[in-house]
Amino acid sequence: MGDVKRVGVIGGGQLAWMMAEAAKTLGVELVVQTPSKCDPAVTIAADAIFAPVADATATAQLATQCDVITFENEFVDLEALSLLESQGICFRPGLQALRPLLNKYHQRCYLRDLGLPTPNFFELPPFPNPHPPPYFPLVLKTRRHGYDGQGTFIIKNLPELTAILERLKNVPLLVEEFIPFERELAAIAARSVNGDISIYPIVETQQEQQVCRRVFAPAEISPAVRGQINAIARTLLNHLQVVGVFGIELFLTQDGHVLVNEIAPRVHNSGHFTLDACETSQFEQHLRAVCGLSLGSPAMKAPAAVMVNLLGYEHSTSSYLEQRQQIAAIPHAQVHWYGKTESRPGRKLGHVTVLLEAEEGRQERELIAQRIESIWYGAGKSYYAAKPSVGQ
Ligand code: ADP
Repeated sequence: MGDVKRVGVIGGGQLAWMMAEAAKTLGVELVVQTPSKCDPAVTIAADAIFAPVADATATAQLATQCDVITFENEFVDLEALSLLESQGICFRPGLQALRPLLNKYHQRCYLRDLGLPTPNFFELPPFPNPHPPPYFPLVLKTRRHGYDGQGTFIIKNLPELTAILERLKNVPLLVEEFIPFERELAAIAARSVNGDISIYPIVETQQEQQVCRRVFAPAEISPAVRGQINAIARTLLNHLQVVGVFGIELFLTQDGHVLVNEIAPRVHNSGHFTLDACETSQFEQHLRAVCGLSLGSPAMKAPAAVMVNLLGYEHSTSSYLEQRQQIAAIPHAQVHWYGKTESRPGRKLGHVTVLLEAEEGRQERELIAQRIESIWYGAGKSYYAAKPSVGQ
């Protein structure tokens, strides 16, 4: 099916916006299903249906305008979409690839059943009558609709736990062991219609308060760790019969073991560096797979790259032009601004990628990230100042 002309995208945020740029290169049109006229991809897509991503009636309408439907957002109504799929509407990835992943507890079970390494986890919090007694720290997660750390809570003691359980009464939860990881890593992997798999260089990701702040590509890891991660990615994509790009977030433990933290069934923030640093961006790669084309090369065009997210740190309607210009003046820096009309603390407003001329050490990469962040947030300022601290 190399004759796809129009791709429907469920979701119209920055991921769809970056996909739309890639669509132009491939000569395909995107139609997005997204709630608001202000969403980033709306102005760049060929057409838009304004509806929540979970509105399957809107997706049925989207299908009448497109050859195939894909996702930039997984907060969908899978049961309702299954009905559409059984009526012949083509989803790529197919819904079988999303089914075990949308609920974090089911995702953990799926990984465990596949024999892939994952943190220990529990179905229900053993509270309020803990038996055995809870040990801290532990990690509490809402089973669905978590993103950017919303719904992930690192709990240090019993009073914190009691407060959070009170707040999340009736919300299905998952409890897992806290991993005192040495580093967080991520793999962006693609699988084509005929089953070819292509994996980008593994990256190091840095989260603060559970939100991705920086990505260093490639990660400084041993060939053994790299081999282990590539094998995990292959197993997953083959078992799920994925068509498209998936992001796989991982922990590297102090003693060199790899654990899968989370699988995102779509293009991912940890792959944004590919826009400037790789021969084929993750967005083009995803569309190539979805359109039935062969996959492009994931090779890097530069020895290394640093990606920094530009997160909102205040409530504002500013376009932050001056800060963006200052960042763009850093040698080999490319600023991607999502055009969101409103800033609020923690919101992803844009990102910057800096290409490096040599495979610099970690310290140099950190310095570049700090330089960008000091321009963006101002010396000593960060978005945390305005963020609520309960359970986070
Ligand atoms: P989200 O779906 O919101 O991205 P994640 O499950 O990926 O949530 O968690 C966000 C971040 O929280 C991770 O990148 C990591 O820094 C931290 N985290 C999540 N689970 C654990 C864990 N079991 N142990 C230690 N840190 C964790």
